[in-house]
Amino acid sequence: MEDRYNAYLLRSDEPGGSMGPLAGRTVAVKDNISTAGLETTCGSRILKGYVPPYDAHVVTLLREAGAAINGKTNMDEFGMGSTTENSGFGPTLNPVDPTRVPGGSSGGSAAAVAAGLAELALGTDTGGSIRCPAAFCGIVGLKPTYGRVSRYGLVAYANSLETIGPMARTVGDVSALYRVISRHDPRDTTMQGRPYEHDPAPTVAGRRIGVPAEFFGEGVDSRVATRVEEAIETLSACGATIVPVSMPSMASALAAYYVTCTSEASSNLARYDGVRYGPGGETARPWHEAFTDVRGSHFGEEVRRRILLGTFALSAGYYGKYYGKAQTARANVAADFERLFGTIDLLAGPTMPTVAYRLGELADPLSMYLADILTVPANLAGVPAISVPCGEVDGLPVGLQLMGRMFDDEAVIDAAAAYEAEATA
Ligand code: GLN
Repeated sequence: MEDRYNAYLLRSDEPGGSMGPLAGRTVAVKDNISTAGLETTCGSRILKGYVPPYDAHVVTLLREAGAAINGKTNMDEFGMGSTTENSGFGPTLNPVDPTRVPGGSSGGSAAAVAAGLAELALGTDTGGSIRCPAAFCGIVGLKPTYGRVSRYGLVAYANSLETIGPMARTVGDVSALYRVISRHDPRDTTMQGRPYEHDPAPTVAGRRIGVPAEFFGEGVDSRVATRVEEAIETLSACGATIVPVSMPSMASALAAYYVTCTSEASSNLARYDGVRYGPGGETARPWHEAFTDVRGSHFGEEVRRRILLGTFALSAGYYGKYYGKAQTARANVAADFERLFGTIDLLAGPTMPTVAYRLGELADPLSMYLADILTVPANLAGVPAISVPCGEVDGLPVGLQLMGRMFDDEAVIDAAAAYEAEATA
C-alpha cells in the first residue's frame, strides 16, 4: 500500500515468522530504535546513511515473536516536538485529515497504524510522544512505567524520562505488543525486571479514579473537555468511583520537563560531531571548526535550540538556578502522584488540550511546548499512562488519558479496555 502520509522514512518487507505471539503481524518501528541492517536516522539529517550494527532489545524480541517489521517511521528530529513537523525529512500527515499534523514525536508510527499500513507500532515517549499522536490519530498508545521496557538500542534524547511503548488500534493489541517487548534485559540497568504478562480484563468496577482539576484548566479546549468528561461518566457507569482531586505540582511541571529534557539532550547529542557519528568533515581543520560546521548544518533548528538551552541550564553558575530547581519541581510532581495513589487507583483527564493542529499552526516553539502540559507529568514521575480514543470534535479524534501507579500498567490497561468495550458496544 502506498504511503500517502509520509509515515515511513524507510519501508521494509521482512516476512516475519510463522511461530510466536506476533507471527506474521506487521509492526512499524520508530526511527530512533536501532535495527541492524536498516538505516536509523532519528528523523535527523545528521544520521542520514547510518546503519546500526545491532538490534535494540525490543527489536530482537519482535523478531523472536515472529513479527514482520515493515519499516522505520518518521518522527520529530531526535523526538523533539509534538507534531512531527520537526523531522529533517518532511512532515507526516494525519490520515484522519491530511491538512493536519498527526501529533508527535511518534507521528509516523501513529499514522502508519491509523492508515492501516501496519497493524502495530513502536513509539517512544519522553514527554508524551506516544500518547499525543495516538490521541490525534484516533488510536491507542501506552507509555509504560519507566524501567519496564529496555532502552538498549534506543537512541537517547532524555534518558531519565523516556520509554519505548506500544501503539495499535485496540487496547488488546497494545497489550499483546507490550507483552512481547517487556522481557527483561540485563543491558539496561534501569530495568526493574517485572515483565508484563497480563491479559486485559476489561473492568474498572470498584476502582477509584481521580480527576485532577488542573487537567481541565486554561488552554484546554472546552469541546475536548466535554468529550473527556463524557468518557469519565462512562467509566463511572462501569462501576468506577470518580473522585475530584488536585495536583498543585502541575504549575511547574512543564518548566521542570523542559529544563530536564534539554539538559539531558545537550549531553546526549554531543556525540554527533562528524567523528564518532555524523558526516565526516575535512580532516586538516581545527576540530572545533569542523565540529561546529557539521552540527550547524545538519541539526535542525529545534534541536540546536534545545542543545543551547540545555548547555546553558547546566553551565557553571546557573546549574542551581535551573537544573537543580527543575529536579525539585520534578520531585514535587512525583510526590503529588504518590500522595494521590495512596487513596486513588487511577487518574483520568484529556491526553492533549486540543484536537490535531493544522500543519504550520504551532509555529512558535513556546506554544508547541505548552501543548505537552498534560502528558509530561507521567514522564517526570515515571508512572504508566495510556491514551484511548474517546470520540471526536468536528470529526477529529480526542484521547482519554488514564494514569496509574508505578508498575501497575495492568490496571491502566484494564480500565482502558473497559472504557473501549463500553464505548464501542
Ligand atoms: N513534545 C515533547 C518534547 O518535545 C515530547 C517529546 C517526546 O516525548 N519525545 O520534548
